[in-house]
Amino acid sequence: MCDSVLLVNPFIYDLTAFDFWAKPIGLLEIGLLLKKLGLHVDLIDCMYSSDTNMAEFSKSQNNITPPKKKTFGSGTYFKEQIKKPEYLNSIPRNYYRFGLHPEVLKSKLNNLSVKPDLIFITGIMTYWWESLRDTICIIKEIYPDIPIVLGGIYPTLIPDHAKQFSGADFVVEGTVDINYLSDFIKKIKPDFKFDTSTTPSPLYYPYSNARYGIVRTSDGCPRKCTYCASSIIRKNYIEHDIDIVFGQISYLYNRGIKNIAFYDDYLLYNKKNRLFPLLRKIQDQDLQINLLAPNGLFLNHIDKETADILKLNNFTTLRFGFETAVEKISKRIGYKIGENDFETKINTLFQAGFKSSDIIIYIMVGLTGQNIKDVEDTIKFVRKYDLRLCLSEFSPVPRTPEFYKALPESKLDFEKYPQYQNNTILPLRSKVFTHQVLNDLKLMCHQ
Ligand code: SF4
Repeated sequence: MCDSVLLVNPFIYDLTAFDFWAKPIGLLEIGLLLKKLGLHVDLIDCMYSSDTNMAEFSKSQNNITPPKKKTFGSGTYFKEQIKKPEYLNSIPRNYYRFGLHPEVLKSKLNNLSVKPDLIFITGIMTYWWESLRDTICIIKEIYPDIPIVLGGIYPTLIPDHAKQFSGADFVVEGTVDINYLSDFIKKIKPDFKFDTSTTPSPLYYPYSNARYGIVRTSDGCPRKCTYCASSIIRKNYIEHDIDIVFGQISYLYNRGIKNIAFYDDYLLYNKKNRLFPLLRKIQDQDLQINLLAPNGLFLNHIDKETADILKLNNFTTLRFGFETAVEKISKRIGYKIGENDFETKINTLFQAGFKSSDIIIYIMVGLTGQNIKDVEDTIKFVRKYDLRLCLSEFSPVPRTPEFYKALPESKLDFEKYPQYQNNTILPLRSKVFTHQVLNDLKLMCHQ
């Protein structure tokens, strides 16, 4: 029998969380590599909203709110209000644990069909490190002698913090491939038995009753926006074989999954060689699916052909990052589109059949040097087109230029305390964007 690895996606503590087709893609890709190496793989995804054990458990718990299903497979998570940390006291919102209750996690750990020899856990947002630490603590209660390996965005961006505070036995930085993984496993578990003859499944996606699936046609991003860590997390942008991606989509489709989310950072880049041929295959095979691009698209890449193809292939709500209409700031952070082109591109989408309610424009608030009027002007500009608007609060991401620009102006030391990097606590960090100001700006978006 092959040796066994357990993958864990931890629960999270936060003021708010919503399942916009969020799955731990790095962990699932590692699951596929491990299966290719012939290992037995199990997954406990504490953030899975259709978890049947948690659904059963929550029936007897008045304080747990069950998830609500929203459009195209998105939705809310299981949540339970927990004690708010003191630094959040001035924020008039509740604080929650989202995902599995610790008792359900313990029960799942105790009832695994195969005892793990090694545990991989992912750390996603840096500001969720406390819930990651608590998840690791629970795992160690059940399996004190099994090595826990932490990977993901959090240990890649702040490895020293992860080594000191997470409780993991090993911390891996950056992305891993199959050679790295097998060498790494051999180093810490020399007796591991690899069976390279095993045929891998097209995608490791062990979710029963999944309401959506995820794929990506590329990894990383060729751009370097100054607030984003994409090029730090994956140094070299790579594109995947379209036949393999199509195989993954077909595999999900044959399991009855009709909503597919692309996890690409820059889906429309090199679209004629990658996305378009893939969409043609989907058309040729007549797969009746809804396509989603939760990471957003580049408005600058919209032309008639692209808009028509997106519409033909049932791309549902389109999300575009506009960030700011203030050219000086826009050019500094990674220019997305100018005001003049904006109108042309939006009209092209309308002509392809998209309605204004199908389009969401993201505006950033809280960037260094940005004032209230800058944001108001940007909102007014976008509102002329009657599109849906979403304010996204700036989150200082470690190792990015905007992180260091924002640090001297911040009321909180978010370099020392990663929990202060959370976008939802912008009013605590910013001297300009107070709670009241943010509320007024949000109201303005919806007037
Ligand atoms: S914000 Fe988007 S386009 Fe810019 S570097 Fe990040 S992933 Fe790439």
